[in-house]
Amino acid sequence: MPEPNYPVELTPPEIEPYRAGNTGIEYVTSFDSGQPGPHVLVTALTHGNEICGAIALDRLLRAELRPRRGRLTLAFDNVAAYHSFDHRIPTSSRFVDEDFNRLWSPATLDGPRQSVELARARALRPVVDSADFLLDIHSMQHATAPLMLAGTLDRSVALARQIGIPELIMCDAGHAAGPRMRDYGGFGDPAAVKTALLIEAGQHWERRVAEVATDVMLRFLMAVGTLSRGDAAPLGGPDFDAHPAQRIIHVTEAVTITGDRFEFVQDFRGLEILPQKGTLIGRDDGREIRTPYDDCVLIMPSRRFVRGQTAVRLGRYVG
Ligand SMILES: [Zn+2]
Repeated sequence: MPEPNYPVELTPPEIEPYRAGNTGIEYVTSFDSGQPGPHVLVTALTHGNEICGAIALDRLLRAELRPRRGRLTLAFDNVAAYHSFDHRIPTSSRFVDEDFNRLWSPATLDGPRQSVELARARALRPVVDSADFLLDIHSMQHATAPLMLAGTLDRSVALARQIGIPELIMCDAGHAAGPRMRDYGGFGDPAAVKTALLIEAGQHWERRVAEVATDVMLRFLMAVGTLSRGDAAPLGGPDFDAHPAQRIIHVTEAVTITGDRFEFVQDFRGLEILPQKGTLIGRDDGREIRTPYDDCVLIMPSRRFVRGQTAVRLGRYVG
């Protein structure tokens, strides 16, 4: 399968000025309005090569905006991986030891294992524990439409609708390899009130992904009452005033790689709709992977074929 080559159109911002922060945790900065209101957390660089989130946070920090109510915390997550970013081999800096976004269960965080990412997750955990709202900013391997990952809870979908962009909202339960930060603790608990979203803003290195990430972040901060429209508008990009008719994709399953040799039968990029149930999409050590129903949507097909990881998610449009 030929590897698509996406040019790196973005410049990773210098985040050293944010190292000290003001929370006692490196690269975490928090502003308290002094007014009652929620603790709102925006995170970037959960994957070290997904630089659009760092650009969005850098823009927000440079603008010196402060929360209108409650608290606003801005965190650069996997800084160690980000610092290994090399635009000649841009895919290699996703993580150092393991995926930071598969560690978010008490069993793993409290467990005995050590890694660069576990150390960072443990350091950030009190911030995540105390947040009422989370937006975690990501980007994708392939150039497809942006996706808001709302998990499985109605309140997260409602917030995604209130934000109003992007057009596509995806509801999924995550990965067999381990829970994401957006699913951790109260964020994934039907009985809690904490609400988390994860934005996949577009292809990692296209210019537009930074605009999408920034606009979604601003609309999120307006939706939760942290910023006024007047605060946010000067930083807004092309989608800041967009009001697309939003559509929801329900993910029914994640295809987890079980063998040593996984391959797709076509060069899928994501959001393809395969009309016929039973269509062959790939082979896992020769085992055929076929679509389980008509009009099956392929979501974020991976280019990293590692046993235990997600190869692709399957879903369908609902409403
Ligand atoms: Zn990511």
